[in-house]
Amino acid sequence: MTPSIAIIGAGPCGLTLARLLECNGIDYVVYERDESEDSNRRGGSLDIHAETGQRALKEAGLFEEFKKHARYDDAVLTLANQQGERVFQAGQGRDAPEIDRVALRQILLDSIPKDKIRWGHLLKGTTQDEDGHHILQFMDGASASGFKLVIGADGAWSKVRPSVTEAKPLYSGNHYIESRISPNSPYYSTMVSKVGAGTLMCLGSSKEIVTQRQGDGSYRIYLGITVPEDFVRGGTVNLTDTESTRRLFLSSAFFGDWADDLKDLIRYSDDFRSWPLYYMDPEAVSWKTVPGLTLAGDAAHVAVPNGEGVNCAMADALVLASKLEAYGTENLDRAVAEYEDDMFRRGAEHIRDGQKMAALIRHEDGPAALISFFNEVMASAAAQAP
Ligand SMILES: Cc1cc2nc3c(=O)[nH]c(=O)nc-3n(C[C@H](O)[C@H](O)[C@H](O)COP(=O)(O)OP(=O)(O)OC[C@H]3O[C@@H](n4cnc5c(N)ncnc54)[C@H](O)[C@@H]3O)c2cc1C
Repeated sequence: MTPSIAIIGAGPCGLTLARLLECNGIDYVVYERDESEDSNRRGGSLDIHAETGQRALKEAGLFEEFKKHARYDDAVLTLANQQGERVFQAGQGRDAPEIDRVALRQILLDSIPKDKIRWGHLLKGTTQDEDGHHILQFMDGASASGFKLVIGADGAWSKVRPSVTEAKPLYSGNHYIESRISPNSPYYSTMVSKVGAGTLMCLGSSKEIVTQRQGDGSYRIYLGITVPEDFVRGGTVNLTDTESTRRLFLSSAFFGDWADDLKDLIRYSDDFRSWPLYYMDPEAVSWKTVPGLTLAGDAAHVAVPNGEGVNCAMADALVLASKLEAYGTENLDRAVAEYEDDMFRRGAEHIRDGQKMAALIRHEDGPAALISFFNEVMASAAAQAP
């Protein structure tokens, strides 16, 4: 028998939702483009917030398992300028532990029966039959139908989204170039003594060098730069050529005038990859509810990274699952309408927060603007404390 609900995408949003439906006894199936659970080991570290991501994990009965992988000591954030001087630190004791994306995915995957996930299913789009039922069309020519509800949790480039809105992600003007320094690097021991736990953000001249410790002790390095959308695709840089990539980013066009210590992070980095950063127009995160179809997570409201993306996606899963439980699969339109009402507000706010944070991070004067913002937030929290 066809399950009531099809979830497209086995990311944090789709899998959290699947687990919550599993707990509530609602039948579902997940379609994921990756060939198997081992075929995508990509992704850095995510901080999971108390009121959203952690709450979803608690409701899903997975919080104890999460705590085995959660790194509370990596919640610390240090800010430095482009001369490498540490000018601010916060986050010690903050209830926002880090977890590797791969570890989070594994916890969620282990909590769902294996036959509920159809690997190697790359969705091409959705169509409708003459009765208005949605049909999933896959790239390999296969199709699936008969669902009461299709949920697009298929990330920024969602193939479900065109069936609910014409809006598309917009390029922010910024890229992160990701790389890493592994424990077998000759620079690793220096890295540990100089950087240690948590995240170090070095800001200046509207650029960033960010380091983030991972669960296996390695470090991800993110170079935040303002470049055209086709910077990598157009051939300005060939990221598979490590030496020429390092030379380009060490040149005066990028980080040539930064402190030598910080340039070492580029000199010893390898495995370069690019993340062009996209966001939805917050005004577009609102549409007339389409019977039998909705979006969740980045598919609905991709934002430039602000530490909230995965949390907002897991909150979507929590709200949607609770509405589906409350109204049952017999009153799906109401469940979806109430979920979307809540999601539209949170999603648009998340995108605006991302834009605000990006402007502070990429400020031409370096970390001062971001420090003032953090100080204001901390002062306001202290004033509200009992
Ligand atoms: C560089 C970078 C750093 C980030 N750092 C943080 C951070 O520190 N904290 C934070 O909260 N957020 C962070 N984010 C944002 C966060 O990664 C996302 O908000 C979050 O992963 C969204 O989850 P999701 O499940 O909605 O989408 P995704 O994680 O994108 O998952 C979508 C899933 O759908 C699958 N899929 C995609 N297309 C199809 C298709 N056509 N057919 C079938 N399956 C498909 C994908 O393979 C994937 O498994 C960062 C993002 C970037 C780019």
